[in-house]
Amino acid sequence: VAKRLEKFKTTIFTQMSILAVKHGAINLGQGFPNFDGPDFVKEAAIQAIKDGKNQYARAYGIPELNSAIAARFGEDTGLVVDPEKEVTVTSGCTEAIAAAMLGLINPGDEVILFAPFYDSYEATLSMAGAKIKGITLRPPDFSIPLEELKAAVTNKTRAILMNTPHNPTGKMFTREELETIASLCIENDVLVFSDEVYDKLAFEMDHISIASLPGMYERTVTMNSLGKTFSLTGWKIGWAIAPPHLTWGVRQAHSYLTFATSTPAQWAAVAALKAPESYFKELKRDYNAKKEILVKGLKEVGFKVFPSSGTYFVVADHTPFGLENDVAFCEYLIEEVGVVAIPTSVFYLKPEEGKNLVRFAFCKDEETLRGAIERMKQKL
Ligand code: GLN
Repeated sequence: VAKRLEKFKTTIFTQMSILAVKHGAINLGQGFPNFDGPDFVKEAAIQAIKDGKNQYARAYGIPELNSAIAARFGEDTGLVVDPEKEVTVTSGCTEAIAAAMLGLINPGDEVILFAPFYDSYEATLSMAGAKIKGITLRPPDFSIPLEELKAAVTNKTRAILMNTPHNPTGKMFTREELETIASLCIENDVLVFSDEVYDKLAFEMDHISIASLPGMYERTVTMNSLGKTFSLTGWKIGWAIAPPHLTWGVRQAHSYLTFATSTPAQWAAVAALKAPESYFKELKRDYNAKKEILVKGLKEVGFKVFPSSGTYFVVADHTPFGLENDVAFCEYLIEEVGVVAIPTSVFYLKPEEGKNLVRFAFCKDEETLRGAIERMKQKL
C-alpha cells in the first residue's frame, strides 16, 4: 500500500459491521438506519430507471438536481447560489470531502482538523499530502477551545475542516464558535470545508451553516448528502456548494475521481429535496424520540452519557465497567454482551485521547434500541 495510506487500517465501520454479523450482535456501531427511506423517493428512482435515465449523468450533476440543491440551500441559509457554477454532485459527502481536499489543497499545506473526527478526514488529507494540525474537543461539552484555535490559525493555515452537527459527539457549533472561526479565517485568508450531513438532525438548537456568516461564503465549501436526511445511506448522493473559484477545484478532482454519480439516484434525489417541510419535522421528531430512548437506557445501564444536540450518535464514558480502554470495551461488548458500539480512539490524532469514550448510534428502530439496552442491563 502507498506510504500515504500505510498507517490507516480497514475502516472501523467495516470492521465493526463484520463483527456484528459474526457474533449476531445488535449493531449500534456504523451509522446507518435499519429502516428504509421514504416510498416517494424510492418510487422516483424506480421510475427514472424505467424511463431510461441510465447513462452517464453530466459530470457535475444533472441540471435538475443542481437546481434542487441550490433551492434547498437557499431555503436553509438564505444564500442565493448559482446551480450551474456553484454546485457539484458527488458520490456521497465522503467523495465531496475527498474532492475538496484533492482539488484545493497542495502537498504541504496546513489544514486544521477538530478531533474527534469522522475517519475519512485524516485519510483524505493524507492522500492530498496536507500537513494536519489537530484541535481536540473535550468532554463534557466538546466545545471549541477558542484560545487554542486562535493560536493555531496563522497565515500558514490553508483550511479548516469542520463538521456540525458533529460526528461522533453530537455537538453543534454555537454561533459564537462559528463567528470565531469566521473571523480567524477572514483575518488569515483561510478556507473552510464544512461537512453538514447531519444538518436536519439538529435537536437542541438551530443548525447554522458557516457559509451564511458575513464574508464566509466566498471562502467556504459546504458539503452535504441525501443519506442521513432520507435514510438512504447506500445511495451515495452528496454535493459540494462553493463559489465558482473553489467549485472549479472540487469539480476538477471529482471529474477524475468518479467522473459522475448514479443517474437514476440523482433523479430520485430531485424528488427527495422537494419534500414538504412536514417530512423534515417528522424526521427530527422521530430521531429525537430514538435519542431519548437510547440516552435514558444507557444511563440506566450505568454509563456516563454526554449530551448530544444533533446527529444520530451519542458518546458515553465506559470506564464505570472497568475495561482498560475503548477498544477492549467494544470487544467485550460485542463478544460477551452482543452489542456493537464504535471505539472513538480511531477518531483522534492521538488515540489515547479517546480511550474512555465509545459511540452509540440511535438510527435504529425502537425494538432494536430497547433490545440492545436490555442486553447491556443483563450482562454489563
Ligand atoms: N458516517 C457513518 C458513521 O460515522 C458511516 C460511515 C462509514 O461507514 N464509512 O458511522
